Amino acid sequence: MMKKDDCIFCKIANGEIPSKTLYEDEDFRVILDLGPATKGHALILPKDHAANLLELSEDTASKVLGVAKNLASKMQEKLHFDGFNLVQNNGEVAGQTVMHFHLHLIPRFKDDGQKIGWVPGNPTEEELEAIRNQIVE
Ligand code: 5GP
Ligand code: ZN
Repeated sequence: MMKKDDCIFCKIANGEIPSKTLYEDEDFRVILDLGPATKGHALILPKDHAANLLELSEDTASKVLGVAKNLASKMQEKLHFDGFNLVQNNGEVAGQTVMHFHLHLIPRFKDDGQKIGWVPGNPTEEELEAIRNQIVE
C-alpha cells in the first residue's frame, strides 16, 4: 500500500490507529467521523494515499461511488434516514482539512438542523456561454 508517513488518514485507513470501522475491503476503510454533522456521518477512505480526487488512481476513483452506494443502502436499512449527502472537498479553499482523499456520507433526517449548500448566483446567458467556452475549448 502507498502510504504517506505523517498522514493521519493513512494510519486510520491501514489500521495503525483504531477507528469505528463500518466497512473494510482491500482498497477502502469506511469509518465514523469524529465530528459528525449527523448520526452516522461516515468517511470513505482509500487505503492508498492520495491528497485529493485529482491524485486518486483511476481504479480507486471508479470504485469509490460503489462503496458509497452500498453504504447508503445499508444505512437506509439500519438508520432509516430520510436522505443523505455525499460531500467531497478538494483543497483548503473548498474546506478540505485532512489532505488524504475522503468521501463524506452524511445521513439526513427531517429537522436535523444541518445545512449543506451555497449561495446561488444569477449569471447572464453571455456569462454562462463564456464559462462554457473557457472550459470546453
Ligand atoms: P474535510 O473538511 O477535510 O472534508 O473533512 C475532514 C473530516 O475528518 C472532518 O469531518 C473531521 O471531523 C474528520 N476527522 C478529522 N480527524 C479525524 C480523526 O482522527 N478520526 C476521524 N474518525 N475523523 C476525523
Ligand atoms: Zn494519507
